[in-house]
Amino acid sequence: YRVTLTPIRRRDKGVVGAIAVLQDVTEAEMLEQSRREFVANVSHELRTPLTTIKSYAEALSEGALNEPPLADRFVGVIRSETERMIRLVTDLLHLSRFDSRRNQLLRQNVDLLEMLEEVVDRFSFQLRQKAITVSVKVEETRKTAMLDRDGIDQVLDNLVSNAIKYTLDGGSIDITATTNGDGQLAIAIKDTGIGIPKKDLPRIFERFYRVDKARSRNMGGTGLGLSIAREIVRAHGGSMTIDSESNVGTVVTVQLPIVPEGSESA
Ligand code: ADP
Repeated sequence: YRVTLTPIRRRDKGVVGAIAVLQDVTEAEMLEQSRREFVANVSHELRTPLTTIKSYAEALSEGALNEPPLADRFVGVIRSETERMIRLVTDLLHLSRFDSRRNQLLRQNVDLLEMLEEVVDRFSFQLRQKAITVSVKVEETRKTAMLDRDGIDQVLDNLVSNAIKYTLDGGSIDITATTNGDGQLAIAIKDTGIGIPKKDLPRIFERFYRVDKARSRNMGGTGLGLSIAREIVRAHGGSMTIDSESNVGTVVTVQLPIVPEGSESA
Protein backbone atom coordinates (compact mmCIF):
# COMPACT_ATOMS: atom_id res chain seq x y z
CA TYR A 1 0.00 0.00 0.00
CA ARG A 2 1.01 3.58 -0.53
CA VAL A 3 -0.05 5.74 2.44
CA THR A 4 -0.56 9.48 2.21
CA LEU A 5 -1.12 11.41 5.45
CA THR A 6 -2.60 14.90 5.45
CA PRO A 7 -2.83 16.70 8.81
CA ILE A 8 -6.12 18.38 9.77
CA ARG A 9 -5.41 21.72 11.45
CA ARG A 10 -7.63 24.00 13.48
CA ARG A 11 -6.67 27.65 13.61
CA ASP A 12 -6.44 27.77 17.41
CA LYS A 13 -5.70 24.14 18.31
CA GLY A 14 -3.01 23.15 15.82
CA VAL A 15 -3.15 19.61 14.45
CA VAL A 16 -6.30 17.82 15.57
CA GLY A 17 -6.24 14.83 13.30
CA ALA A 18 -5.13 13.43 9.99
CA ILE A 19 -6.57 12.04 6.81
CA ALA A 20 -4.90 8.83 5.78
CA VAL A 21 -5.30 7.61 2.23
CA LEU A 22 -4.33 4.00 1.63
CA GLN A 23 -3.82 3.21 -1.99
CA ASP A 24 -3.51 -0.35 -3.21
CA VAL A 25 -0.54 -0.26 -5.59
CA THR A 26 -0.18 -4.02 -6.03
CA GLU A 27 -1.46 -3.94 -9.57
CA ALA A 28 0.66 -0.96 -10.59
CA GLU A 29 3.75 -2.60 -9.07
CA MET A 30 3.05 -5.88 -10.81
CA LEU A 31 2.61 -4.09 -14.11
CA GLU A 32 5.85 -2.23 -13.63
CA GLN A 33 7.66 -5.45 -12.73
CA SER A 34 6.34 -7.29 -15.78
CA ARG A 35 7.35 -4.33 -17.96
CA ARG A 36 10.88 -4.49 -16.53
CA GLU A 37 11.05 -8.24 -17.10
CA PHE A 38 9.80 -7.77 -20.65
CA VAL A 39 12.49 -5.21 -21.50
CA ALA A 40 15.16 -7.44 -19.94
CA ASN A 41 13.89 -10.41 -21.96
CA VAL A 42 13.80 -8.48 -25.24
CA SER A 43 17.32 -7.18 -24.64
CA HIS A 44 18.58 -10.65 -23.91
CA GLU A 45 16.82 -12.21 -26.90
CA LEU A 46 18.33 -9.59 -29.23
CA ARG A 47 21.74 -9.64 -27.64
CA THR A 48 22.23 -13.37 -28.13
CA PRO A 49 22.04 -13.38 -31.95
CA LEU A 50 23.94 -10.10 -32.16
CA THR A 51 26.82 -11.54 -30.14
CA THR A 52 26.90 -14.60 -32.39
CA ILE A 53 26.85 -12.47 -35.54
CA LYS A 54 29.65 -10.29 -34.19
CA SER A 55 31.93 -13.21 -33.37
CA TYR A 56 31.38 -14.95 -36.70
CA ALA A 57 31.98 -11.71 -38.61
CA GLU A 58 35.22 -11.27 -36.64
CA ALA A 59 36.32 -14.81 -37.41
CA LEU A 60 35.67 -14.16 -41.11
CA SER A 61 37.71 -10.98 -41.17
CA GLU A 62 40.51 -12.63 -39.18
CA GLY A 63 41.16 -15.31 -41.78
CA ALA A 64 38.18 -17.65 -42.14
CA LEU A 65 37.33 -15.82 -45.37
CA ASN A 66 40.30 -17.54 -46.99
CA GLU A 67 38.95 -20.98 -46.20
CA PRO A 68 35.84 -21.24 -48.39
CA PRO A 69 34.08 -24.23 -46.72
CA LEU A 70 34.49 -22.62 -43.30
CA ALA A 71 33.50 -19.21 -44.61
CA ASP A 72 30.31 -20.71 -46.09
CA ARG A 73 29.33 -22.16 -42.73
CA PHE A 74 30.01 -18.91 -40.90
CA VAL A 75 27.98 -16.89 -43.41
CA GLY A 76 25.17 -19.43 -42.98
CA VAL A 77 25.15 -18.86 -39.22
CA ILE A 78 25.12 -15.09 -39.71
CA ARG A 79 22.14 -15.41 -42.02
CA SER A 80 20.11 -17.66 -39.75
CA GLU A 81 20.81 -15.46 -36.72
CA THR A 82 19.73 -12.41 -38.72
CA GLU A 83 16.53 -14.22 -39.70
CA ARG A 84 15.88 -14.99 -36.04
CA MET A 85 16.20 -11.31 -35.19
CA ILE A 86 13.81 -10.36 -37.97
CA ARG A 87 11.26 -12.88 -36.66
CA LEU A 88 11.64 -11.54 -33.16
CA VAL A 89 11.22 -7.92 -34.19
CA THR A 90 8.21 -8.83 -36.36
CA ASP A 91 6.62 -10.62 -33.38
CA LEU A 92 7.30 -7.65 -31.14
CA LEU A 93 5.64 -5.35 -33.65
CA HIS A 94 2.59 -7.60 -33.72
CA LEU A 95 2.41 -7.51 -29.95
CA SER A 96 2.64 -3.75 -29.73
CA ARG A 97 0.08 -3.32 -32.50
CA PHE A 98 -2.46 -5.35 -30.59
CA ASP A 99 -1.51 -3.69 -27.31
CA SER A 100 -2.34 -0.30 -28.73
CA ARG A 101 -5.34 -1.00 -30.96
CA ARG A 102 -7.31 -3.31 -28.72
CA ASN A 103 -10.74 -2.52 -30.01
CA GLN A 104 -10.10 -1.66 -33.60
CA LEU A 105 -10.99 -4.97 -35.13
CA LEU A 106 -12.16 -5.18 -38.67
CA ARG A 107 -14.80 -7.86 -38.41
CA GLN A 108 -16.12 -9.54 -41.50
CA ASN A 109 -18.23 -12.59 -42.16
CA VAL A 110 -15.78 -15.47 -42.48
CA ASP A 111 -16.38 -18.95 -43.86
CA LEU A 112 -14.76 -21.11 -41.18
CA LEU A 113 -13.98 -24.19 -43.26
CA GLU A 114 -12.34 -22.05 -45.92
CA MET A 115 -10.31 -20.14 -43.32
CA LEU A 116 -9.09 -23.32 -41.60
CA GLU A 117 -8.23 -25.05 -44.87
CA GLU A 118 -6.23 -22.03 -45.98
CA VAL A 119 -4.19 -22.16 -42.76
CA VAL A 120 -3.37 -25.79 -43.45
CA ASP A 121 -2.41 -24.90 -47.04
CA ARG A 122 0.07 -22.30 -45.78
CA PHE A 123 1.88 -25.06 -43.90
CA SER A 124 1.67 -27.77 -46.54
CA PHE A 125 5.44 -27.78 -47.06
CA GLN A 126 6.32 -28.34 -43.39
CA LEU A 127 3.49 -30.85 -43.00
CA ARG A 128 4.72 -32.90 -45.93
CA GLN A 129 8.31 -32.68 -44.70
CA LYS A 130 7.34 -34.16 -41.33
CA ALA A 131 4.69 -36.52 -42.75
CA ILE A 132 2.08 -35.07 -40.40
CA THR A 133 -1.55 -35.67 -41.35
CA VAL A 134 -4.19 -33.00 -40.74
CA SER A 135 -7.97 -33.15 -40.49
CA VAL A 136 -10.28 -30.14 -40.50
CA LYS A 137 -13.91 -30.35 -39.32
CA VAL A 138 -16.49 -27.60 -38.99
CA GLU A 139 -19.80 -28.15 -37.20
CA GLU A 140 -22.83 -28.05 -39.53
CA THR A 141 -24.60 -25.41 -37.45
CA ARG A 142 -21.69 -23.00 -37.26
CA LYS A 143 -20.37 -22.38 -40.75
CA THR A 144 -19.49 -18.70 -40.51
CA ALA A 145 -18.48 -16.12 -37.89
CA MET A 146 -17.80 -12.39 -37.67
CA LEU A 147 -14.03 -12.19 -37.16
CA ASP A 148 -11.09 -9.94 -37.85
CA ARG A 149 -9.69 -12.22 -40.53
CA ASP A 150 -6.08 -10.96 -40.37
CA GLY A 151 -6.00 -11.26 -36.60
CA ILE A 152 -7.50 -14.75 -36.44
CA ASP A 153 -5.27 -15.89 -39.31
CA GLN A 154 -2.29 -14.88 -37.20
CA VAL A 155 -3.68 -16.75 -34.17
CA LEU A 156 -4.23 -19.89 -36.23
CA ASP A 157 -0.83 -19.62 -37.90
CA ASN A 158 0.87 -19.42 -34.50
CA LEU A 159 -1.07 -22.39 -33.13
CA VAL A 160 -0.70 -24.63 -36.17
CA SER A 161 2.97 -23.72 -36.41
CA ASN A 162 3.41 -24.81 -32.76
CA ALA A 163 1.47 -28.01 -33.34
CA ILE A 164 3.86 -28.84 -36.20
CA LYS A 165 7.02 -27.73 -34.35
CA TYR A 166 6.29 -29.82 -31.29
CA THR A 167 4.96 -32.95 -33.03
CA LEU A 168 7.30 -35.69 -34.16
CA ASP A 169 7.37 -37.02 -37.72
CA GLY A 170 4.35 -39.08 -38.65
CA GLY A 171 2.05 -37.49 -36.06
CA SER A 172 -1.35 -35.94 -36.63
CA ILE A 173 -3.19 -32.67 -36.07
CA ASP A 174 -6.99 -32.27 -35.78
CA ILE A 175 -8.56 -28.86 -36.23
CA THR A 176 -12.22 -28.45 -35.28
CA ALA A 177 -14.69 -25.58 -35.09
CA THR A 178 -17.73 -26.14 -32.88
CA THR A 179 -20.15 -24.26 -30.63
CA ASN A 180 -19.28 -24.75 -26.97
CA GLY A 181 -21.60 -24.93 -23.95
CA ASP A 182 -21.58 -21.13 -23.58
CA GLY A 183 -22.72 -20.66 -27.16
CA GLN A 184 -19.27 -19.43 -28.21
CA LEU A 185 -17.32 -20.47 -31.25
CA ALA A 186 -14.60 -22.91 -30.16
CA ILE A 187 -11.69 -23.59 -32.50
CA ALA A 188 -9.49 -26.41 -31.22
CA ILE A 189 -6.09 -27.46 -32.51
CA LYS A 190 -5.14 -30.87 -31.22
CA ASP A 191 -1.79 -32.51 -31.85
CA THR A 192 -0.13 -35.82 -30.99
CA GLY A 193 3.12 -34.09 -30.07
CA ILE A 194 5.59 -34.00 -27.20
CA GLY A 195 3.10 -32.21 -24.93
CA ILE A 196 3.76 -29.73 -22.14
CA PRO A 197 4.59 -30.80 -18.58
CA LYS A 198 1.79 -29.93 -16.10
CA LYS A 199 4.08 -27.64 -14.09
CA ASP A 200 4.75 -25.43 -17.11
CA LEU A 201 1.11 -25.06 -18.20
CA PRO A 202 0.21 -22.10 -15.95
CA ARG A 203 3.04 -19.99 -17.39
CA ILE A 204 2.84 -21.02 -21.01
CA PHE A 205 1.12 -17.82 -22.23
CA GLU A 206 3.76 -15.54 -20.70
CA ARG A 207 5.92 -13.64 -23.12
CA PHE A 208 9.17 -15.51 -23.79
CA TYR A 209 8.19 -18.50 -21.65
CA ARG A 210 9.28 -21.79 -23.22
CA VAL A 211 9.42 -25.29 -21.82
CA ASP A 212 12.70 -26.00 -23.55
CA LYS A 213 14.54 -22.88 -24.70
CA ALA A 214 17.03 -24.74 -26.88
CA ARG A 215 14.35 -26.77 -28.63
CA SER A 216 12.21 -23.69 -29.30
CA ARG A 217 15.21 -21.79 -30.66
CA ASN A 218 16.23 -24.67 -32.92
CA MET A 219 12.70 -24.75 -34.27
CA GLY A 220 12.85 -21.05 -35.00
CA GLY A 221 10.61 -20.07 -32.08
CA THR A 222 10.65 -16.68 -30.40
CA GLY A 223 8.64 -17.55 -27.28
CA LEU A 224 6.05 -14.93 -28.27
CA GLY A 225 3.63 -16.95 -30.42
CA LEU A 226 1.13 -17.88 -27.70
CA SER A 227 1.16 -14.44 -26.08
CA ILE A 228 0.48 -12.78 -29.43
CA ALA A 229 -2.35 -15.24 -30.08
CA ARG A 230 -3.87 -14.49 -26.68
CA GLU A 231 -3.73 -10.72 -27.21
CA ILE A 232 -5.62 -11.04 -30.48
CA VAL A 233 -8.19 -13.43 -29.01
CA ARG A 234 -8.73 -11.08 -26.05
CA ALA A 235 -9.24 -8.18 -28.43
CA HIS A 236 -12.10 -10.27 -29.87
CA GLY A 237 -13.54 -10.61 -26.37
CA GLY A 238 -12.55 -14.28 -26.32
CA SER A 239 -10.24 -16.53 -24.34
CA MET A 240 -7.75 -19.34 -24.85
CA THR A 241 -7.22 -22.56 -22.97
CA ILE A 242 -4.53 -25.18 -23.26
CA ASP A 243 -4.64 -28.77 -22.18
CA SER A 244 -1.67 -31.04 -22.53
CA GLU A 245 -0.02 -34.22 -21.46
CA SER A 246 3.68 -35.02 -21.88
CA ASN A 247 4.35 -37.41 -24.75
CA VAL A 248 0.63 -37.64 -25.59
CA GLY A 249 -0.23 -34.30 -27.09
CA THR A 250 -1.68 -30.84 -26.71
CA VAL A 251 -5.06 -29.22 -27.38
CA VAL A 252 -5.22 -25.46 -27.67
CA THR A 253 -8.75 -24.07 -27.77
CA VAL A 254 -9.75 -20.58 -28.82
CA GLN A 255 -13.18 -19.44 -27.58
CA LEU A 256 -14.73 -16.53 -29.41
CA PRO A 257 -18.04 -14.86 -28.60
CA ILE A 258 -20.54 -14.86 -31.43
CA VAL A 259 -21.01 -11.37 -32.79
CA PRO A 260 -24.14 -10.72 -34.88
CA GLU A 261 -23.64 -10.00 -38.54
CA GLY A 262 -23.33 -6.32 -39.36
CA SER A 263 -21.25 -5.48 -36.26
CA GLU A 264 -18.14 -3.60 -37.20
CA SER A 265 -16.14 -3.89 -33.99
CA ALA A 266 -15.97 -5.63 -30.62
P1 ADP B 1 7.74 -20.59 -29.31
O1 ADP B 1 8.15 -19.57 -30.30
O2 ADP B 1 8.86 -20.98 -28.38
O3 ADP B 1 7.05 -21.76 -29.93
P2 ADP B 1 5.16 -19.93 -28.09
O4 ADP B 1 4.74 -18.75 -27.28
O5 ADP B 1 4.40 -20.18 -29.34
O6 ADP B 1 6.72 -19.80 -28.35
O7 ADP B 1 5.04 -21.21 -27.16
C1 ADP B 1 5.64 -21.20 -25.89
C2 ADP B 1 6.12 -22.58 -25.50
O8 ADP B 1 4.99 -23.43 -25.31
C3 ADP B 1 6.96 -23.29 -26.55
O9 ADP B 1 8.32 -22.95 -26.43
C4 ADP B 1 6.72 -24.75 -26.20
O10 ADP B 1 7.57 -25.13 -25.13
C5 ADP B 1 5.29 -24.76 -25.67
N1 ADP B 1 4.30 -25.17 -26.69
C6 ADP B 1 3.47 -24.35 -27.40
N2 ADP B 1 2.66 -25.06 -28.21
C7 ADP B 1 2.97 -26.36 -28.01
C8 ADP B 1 2.47 -27.62 -28.54
N3 ADP B 1 1.48 -27.65 -29.45
N4 ADP B 1 3.05 -28.76 -28.08
C9 ADP B 1 4.04 -28.73 -27.17
N5 ADP B 1 4.54 -27.60 -26.63
C10 ADP B 1 4.03 -26.43 -27.04
